[in-house]
Amino acid sequence: MVYTEKMDYKSGLKEKYRGLIDRLDRVQGIKVSLGEPMSLHATMRTGGPADIFLEPCSEEALIAAAEALNSKNIPWIAVGNCSNIIVKDGGYRGAVISLVPALTGIEASPAQDGAAVMKAGAGEPLSKLAAAAAAASLTGLEFAAGIPGSVGGAVYMNAGAYGGEIKDCLTEVRCFRRDSGGQVVLSAEDARLGYRTSIFKSGEYIILEAAFALRCGVREEIDRKTRELFERRNARQPVELPSSGSFFKRPEGHYAGKLIEEAGMKGFSSGAAEVSPKHAGFIVNTGGATTADVLAVADAVRREVEAKSGVALEAEPVIIGEDIREGLS
Ligand SMILES: Cc1cc2nc3c(=O)[nH]c(=O)nc-3n(C[C@H](O)[C@H](O)[C@H](O)COP(=O)(O)OP(=O)(O)OC[C@H]3O[C@@H](n4cnc5c(N)ncnc54)[C@H](O)[C@@H]3O)c2cc1C
Repeated sequence: MVYTEKMDYKSGLKEKYRGLIDRLDRVQGIKVSLGEPMSLHATMRTGGPADIFLEPCSEEALIAAAEALNSKNIPWIAVGNCSNIIVKDGGYRGAVISLVPALTGIEASPAQDGAAVMKAGAGEPLSKLAAAAAAASLTGLEFAAGIPGSVGGAVYMNAGAYGGEIKDCLTEVRCFRRDSGGQVVLSAEDARLGYRTSIFKSGEYIILEAAFALRCGVREEIDRKTRELFERRNARQPVELPSSGSFFKRPEGHYAGKLIEEAGMKGFSSGAAEVSPKHAGFIVNTGGATTADVLAVADAVRREVEAKSGVALEAEPVIIGEDIREGLS
């Protein structure tokens, strides 16, 4: 076990989690950090410390860590690239497990009848999977190349863009049950993917690996489509600033960005968080924002949009943790 310490409140954490730390000491291949600032991980670049931040290097270490946390009744959450998570400024009282180092590997089956299956570990970047598909002249994941999440996070959220979504090509998902650790393979149907939702939102499963059915295509066409979508993304979205992507789900029959603009909230700010002047659907961190700033902007936007259009906006990112409290530095 590699052990690092980051925050002033760490001595209290050592005491609070002594039993867990002793148990994790016996797990091969896991990095344990106490008081890890989640602003280092979340693409919004805000968020207080996770009491414990775990980076298992293998599936076995991941499952052992989950068992250890369950046996001590310690709350935990598994994360990918943290591109759709907002952590409040007081941080998370429990453990955050990063799946990125443990769940790696991308492989393609030999093509048959103009199609092939690609499997990817849940910790792999979605962009890497899309690039591997393109390199194998497989089409179907071009839409995913610019989405900055992990494969697991993309399945969990049924990520999508420019008319494509994970649902279009997912075939099955290997996962483990959070509570018992038992493994199960779910079909795409069992995964119940819908607009930015899936069975995984129930919190029952942790995704280990996913398989995607892709069609054989022409490499140049795949590359051209990918480039075109990248250019569209870069031209219209504030990709140069930290954010969590589109902050609000698309309300049925509307576009969140358009409603926000019509409500006069484009450019609205609180502290260093701002409704992007480039794309009103994004809340960006212009430098040194807190999560409280981000959520204040989101609340104001929600209120104004509802008042002007009658449409209730719903946040897309998963919001975890607690507000800041006395004594936490
Ligand atoms: C600049 C930018 C552009 C974006 N553009 C798009 C876009 O075009 N389309 C789109 O859909 N999204 C977009 N997003 C949002 C985000 O990238 C996606 O939702 C992505 O799929 C989240 O993946 P992640 O690995 O970052 O998940 P995280 O943020 O780490 O986690 C999100 C949720 O998934 C859960 N989770 C993650 N991995 C697993 C797993 N293996 N098993 C179980 N649960 C898991 C977490 O517990 C959490 O509840 C964008 C974000 C940014 C910052």
